[in-house]
Amino acid sequence: MCGIVGYIGRKQAYPILIEGLKRLEYRGYDSAGVALMPAKNIINVYKSAGKVKQLEAAVAGCDVAGCAGIAHTRWATHGEPNKENSHPHCSMGGRLALVHNGIIENYAVLKEKLTAEGYAFASDTDTEVLVQLIDYIQKKGNYNLVTAVQLALKEVVGAYAIAVMDRENPEMIVAARKSSPLVIGLADDGLYLASDATPIIEHTNRMVYPDDEEVAALYKDGSYRIMNLENVECCHEAQTVALNIGQLQKGGFPHFMIKEIYDQPECLADCMRGRVMADMNRIVISAVNNYKDVLMRAKRFIIVACGTSWHAGLIGKQLIESFCRIPVEVEYASEFRYRNPVVGKDDVVIAISQSGETADTLAAIELARERGAFIYGICNVVGSSIARATDTGSYIHVGPEIGVASTKAFTGQVTVLAMFALALAQVQGKISGEQMKETIEELVSVPDKIREVLKQDDYINNMAKVFTYAHNFIYLGRGYAFPVALEGALKLKEISYIHAEGYPAAEMKHGPIALIDMNMPVVVIATKSPLYEKVVSNIQEIKARGGKILAVITEGDTVIKEMADYSIEVPETMECLESLVTSVPLQLLAYHIAANKGLDVDKPRNLAKSVTVE
Ligand code: GLU
Repeated sequence: MCGIVGYIGRKQAYPILIEGLKRLEYRGYDSAGVALMPAKNIINVYKSAGKVKQLEAAVAGCDVAGCAGIAHTRWATHGEPNKENSHPHCSMGGRLALVHNGIIENYAVLKEKLTAEGYAFASDTDTEVLVQLIDYIQKKGNYNLVTAVQLALKEVVGAYAIAVMDRENPEMIVAARKSSPLVIGLADDGLYLASDATPIIEHTNRMVYPDDEEVAALYKDGSYRIMNLENVECCHEAQTVALNIGQLQKGGFPHFMIKEIYDQPECLADCMRGRVMADMNRIVISAVNNYKDVLMRAKRFIIVACGTSWHAGLIGKQLIESFCRIPVEVEYASEFRYRNPVVGKDDVVIAISQSGETADTLAAIELARERGAFIYGICNVVGSSIARATDTGSYIHVGPEIGVASTKAFTGQVTVLAMFALALAQVQGKISGEQMKETIEELVSVPDKIREVLKQDDYINNMAKVFTYAHNFIYLGRGYAFPVALEGALKLKEISYIHAEGYPAAEMKHGPIALIDMNMPVVVIATKSPLYEKVVSNIQEIKARGGKILAVITEGDTVIKEMADYSIEVPETMECLESLVTSVPLQLLAYHIAANKGLDVDKPRNLAKSVTVE
């Protein structure tokens, strides 16, 4: 989950690396480090616990010369997040320096072997074992760095994106990947490498994406070679990546999260652009058109995802089942991959992941593919591993999401799932022209309806102040609103560290009602829907026990407004699209509670954005 960045060329590496780490900090931020190679036989390594800012402070006044360097911002898997365990790690004697994203699963066996060979270790990480192993192989066989890396990686079990420097060869950086992302940027001034395109884009938009088990040698003169572990040259065409730098900046907002909440109307319009043809009463999803036979033949859809994407999947299930009448199961990818699931050629697996790098989701895809299922991906990051590992799919096109707590990616995923269900129902002939027209009209009006919700930001902030120091929250919803309750509770937990649970409203009386007292705020998604009356009864049950009600209601609903302690009105929309509107006030509530507590909203403790480890 950590971020790696590297540079070799004509410019000073340090400023490029530090700015790059700041861009990648969403991936991990418990410690950071940089290694610079100013000349033959010199590698200067600087590290610090904490965020990139702390590294910058620690490096102030030090020698940061050098036109080649590698850097890392960490999300610890092995060994606590302190200075010793932060990357880059050096081989004993200091000849090699290496940064790594991933996990070396067989590190213990390798460590034992290397210890027996006389290697001493300075950290508790799995990563240090890898750099020592490369060093051992290099010295034993007198190999060049590329060969030593290739041979070492053959002995390694696990996931890695690495960058390595050898002080005896200052003209080169070697990088490699397997199951962790790596991109190489080609610029006139030199070569860049990173975990994703965000640190590179301001230097060049020409990128190369190496495949699993490939090793890249990047030379100071701007040339590069990519080989597999057998040293066979691999050819990858450079791709032109379209990424808007403005999307990587806060644009006047105090945090990325609030900016991304506010970005949603434009992002969802982007997501629908070219797909929702309101004038032709059609939705065109190219993957649905290209694979309509496979999709229509499916006996079942299985959605695999983690976290927020799993919540979007629960909404997707209701959308696909109601429009296409095909059964849908929603699975946690991490459970699915390990439980010998019944899945085969009659199934279509839909894998959802913002980053497109989620390790468990990737593994679930592999398993489903081995068993013959057709795989459809829904990702945000273009060219990501999941986008490449699937048979086809749809991007959500909401732009880079930097805040660790997902907001616009969630609504983007739901929008794509809605368009997918409608486009498939259309090719199946299961939706009437009238119903299509009505649903499309509602869909295209969602961005404006979200704008209306955003106008209540100050009111929601005031409400948040009242509940900033609550210890627990319950979120309730039914039907399409139940996943919104789960997502609202998750947002609050993630960034404010307040315990929160999402429940189907009717399930409350089977347990959680015991928790209700005057100190328990209960957020109820209580918009007008076929289950409205039932939700009103659930609200009464909570009130009777002294609970504080924060209700999300349909504009103009005076009945619940009178019952609730606080209510947030949202514009009316179709029930199947309501989650796109009702999730927004819950994002704002979680954001303001966390911001009022003075917490680091964009980088909540213990979390990282792109979960590339199991
Ligand atoms: N396993 C390495 C460590 O704990 C890298 C972690 C990561 O990729 O987030 O240092």
